[in-house]
Amino acid sequence: MGKLFIAADMEGCAGVSAPQALMPDRWAWEWSAARRWMTEEVLAVAAAAFDAQYTEVIVGDGHGNAHNIDPDRLPDNVRLVRSWPRPLLHMEGVDESDINACAFVGYHASSTTSSSILAHSYSGAAFRWIRLNGELCSEGYLNAALAGEFGKPVVLVSGDARTVEDAQRYAPQAIHFVAKKSIGWRSQVSLPPAQVRRLLQEAATEAFSRPKPPPFVLQGPFHLELEMTSQGAAEMLAYLPNTRRISAFGISQSFDTLASLVRFVAFAMFYSPTGVPAL
Ligand SMILES: [Zn+2]
Repeated sequence: MGKLFIAADMEGCAGVSAPQALMPDRWAWEWSAARRWMTEEVLAVAAAAFDAQYTEVIVGDGHGNAHNIDPDRLPDNVRLVRSWPRPLLHMEGVDESDINACAFVGYHASSTTSSSILAHSYSGAAFRWIRLNGELCSEGYLNAALAGEFGKPVVLVSGDARTVEDAQRYAPQAIHFVAKKSIGWRSQVSLPPAQVRRLLQEAATEAFSRPKPPPFVLQGPFHLELEMTSQGAAEMLAYLPNTRRISAFGISQSFDTLASLVRFVAFAMFYSPTGVPAL
């Protein structure tokens, strides 16, 4: 059956709601619970994968400092990708040849989606929005396209209802699991995390039992537009070869592959002259 790749985030997990809960240095008491909820949603999908005869699961911790999923809770044959920077960001490892499907867990909507819990695009600190060939990108959209470049389909998307609506653009035949509903940008309503995990495991079981949908394949060349939050960042990025300043906050560049485009996004998000990621 091969391997499953899980790209995991925290904002779309049931129960997670306040920005202060997203990092351990603020509401540590609430983050401790949020990391447990995130870990357990990943465990539910991994359990369904092993029941479906997947031999290995690779999980990318794609949230905050990328040290949220508790490695001590993982069963055998789950490999965990942690920390930043990583050239393929949330999808680091998806290029392994025997991965045959991807699942997005805990996903959230893009920075330009209104009334969606904790919506942002990769880094709210770095980017106002991201466009790929003119299309506004959510993390799901760009990550699914990157997986598609390697021939891997997305078979399951879990997050808040707005995120799952967005999955129609990039994984229309995947199982779409609504883990919670957004009331607004900073409020949500959900069933208890333990109940949501059981339902998520059922949804994942269904996703893994179906015939594989086609991967989401976009045709290049790939034109990236980044709207930075800082004019200074836009100015400096435009020093790089082939990078154009398109507005006070905006830069653009074209790429032959999405893998190289995502590396550029990673650079724009994490570069620091001290070599220490800004997170
Ligand atoms: Zn996140």
